[in-house]
Amino acid sequence: MKGIGVSPGIAIGKALRVVRQKVSATGVLLSGDEAVRAEIDRYRQAVKDSIAEIRGLISAQSDATADILETHIEMLTDSQLDNDILELIQVRKKNASDAVLEVTGRLVAAFRSIEDPYLSARAADIGDIGQRLLKHLGTLQPPSFDESVQSDHPLIIVADDLSPSDTITMDLHHIAGFALQAGGATSHTAIVARLRDMPAIVGCGASLDNVMDNDIMVLDGDTGQLWINPSDTELAAFKQKKMAQVENARRLASLKDIPARMVDGRRIRLLANISRVEDMKDAFLHGAEGVGLFRTEFLFMKKSSFPTEEEQFIAYRDLAVASQDTPVTIRTLDIGGDKPLPYFPMPKEQNPFLGHRAIRISLDKKDNFLTQLKAILRASSFGRLKILVPMVSNMQELRAAKELFTAAKNELLQKDISFDKDIPFGIMIEVPSAAVIADLLAREADFFSIGTNDLCQYTMAADRMNDKVSHLCDPYHPAVLRLISFTIQQAQLNNIPVSLCGEMAGDPLAALVLAGMGLEEFSMNAPSIPRIKHIIVNSSMDKAIQVLRQVMEFDDPSDITQYLQDINA
Ligand code: PEP
Ligand code: MG
Repeated sequence: MKGIGVSPGIAIGKALRVVRQKVSATGVLLSGDEAVRAEIDRYRQAVKDSIAEIRGLISAQSDATADILETHIEMLTDSQLDNDILELIQVRKKNASDAVLEVTGRLVAAFRSIEDPYLSARAADIGDIGQRLLKHLGTLQPPSFDESVQSDHPLIIVADDLSPSDTITMDLHHIAGFALQAGGATSHTAIVARLRDMPAIVGCGASLDNVMDNDIMVLDGDTGQLWINPSDTELAAFKQKKMAQVENARRLASLKDIPARMVDGRRIRLLANISRVEDMKDAFLHGAEGVGLFRTEFLFMKKSSFPTEEEQFIAYRDLAVASQDTPVTIRTLDIGGDKPLPYFPMPKEQNPFLGHRAIRISLDKKDNFLTQLKAILRASSFGRLKILVPMVSNMQELRAAKELFTAAKNELLQKDISFDKDIPFGIMIEVPSAAVIADLLAREADFFSIGTNDLCQYTMAADRMNDKVSHLCDPYHPAVLRLISFTIQQAQLNNIPVSLCGEMAGDPLAALVLAGMGLEEFSMNAPSIPRIKHIIVNSSMDKAIQVLRQVMEFDDPSDITQYLQDINA
């Protein structure tokens, strides 16, 4: 069987099926003002009880799972959600459970339809608070399982789906892993599993229906594969593989606190890409030396209207404080393309990725952009912040953005509000036109950050979200490699720092190629850091340059990957 591996490692254990009750609307309407008032009281009490329950859970957590629960409290106290539910009770005379089901169901569907996997996975959190409210309204029973299966054997939890809270509150003592029918790679169940170092597979589909309690299961959280009742010989082989993995993980973990220095002394900095202040802890746990990309979209997505300057300031200040004086690059809003904002209507476009997106929107909606810049500037007194602007494609956009940056600084100066006067102002290099004029842009930007995710799709004219053409979206295409190399070279010639924050930075095959090009700063998903560090500390610049030379000789991306796989084997 196959699903999506979302938390690495091999788990071996007995299956334990966990069943969640499915609730649907009753359609029962309230009659009379008295009934409406009573239902509103019941709903308000359920909100209070839910918040109290979550607070109790938070105090029992010792890791970043507490932060996931904090966001649930934020969502429960969101006035838009509250108003929508109350309106259904008051105006449409729905009972509280039906109102909660309808509003949270609508929001879950809206979030699921977003293509950005991180944001679409937030649907699970909304579903989660909906379930908690239903539980406190007496409509929903907690997930159930056959208690007789509990044993001293490790267990593998099999379920259609689990809410983040189900996963957080489970007694994980005997649990070796999770196999879920539904879910995506960035669902919180996946995040909780990763935080707790527990192999997990999601998206297994209906094939899990055949699994019975007590079946012996093996799951491989790296490949997403799943075996039911394997033979003794197969089981022995899995046990051996698991031991080798544990040993490898121990070796990588031992690298956490040592600097990423090549054997010849070349120092490389490895940073994390994050979207929430809470992710900072996880970044440090993996040995990040700061944040190379803070995507601000999530901050905007979780609100029901544009966050105010004060709200943004608090978020950026918390981030600056949490970063413990390590550098943090905050990217201004990158909406459009695959990332809509529910409260910011955007006309339908023929080619959203080629349309009104990122800096293009910021330069049209100057007030929103200024608000964000002022909030980041104010927060810069609390840490080592840098400002990064996405999707710049020409000099004029850079200059216009810098003018607004100056205006934001002047406004703060006039109001006598302190900020870091030397805060660097850099640009993403993710549009081919920008890479080609990197020499010109480097004269006026304080730093570059190369976004290979977009650079690939725009260079190859292959939509990064379209499966049919995704094979073309290849960072090892010589055109993409040349653009990256040229950008790094021009940054160096102009003495400005250059970093790379696309997925390529966390790809072990790319590490030496990029180091060979002279890249000294890589920013990636935190869990990739130890693997990249392992490669860096075991190589030299000579080796990296040699690998790069060889790579640049090929004209076919598949020859490049084959060569890199061979030398990494
Ligand atoms: C990129 O394009 O490489 C990048 C890091 O930005 P995003 O993935 O947010 O578009
Ligand atoms: Mg991008």
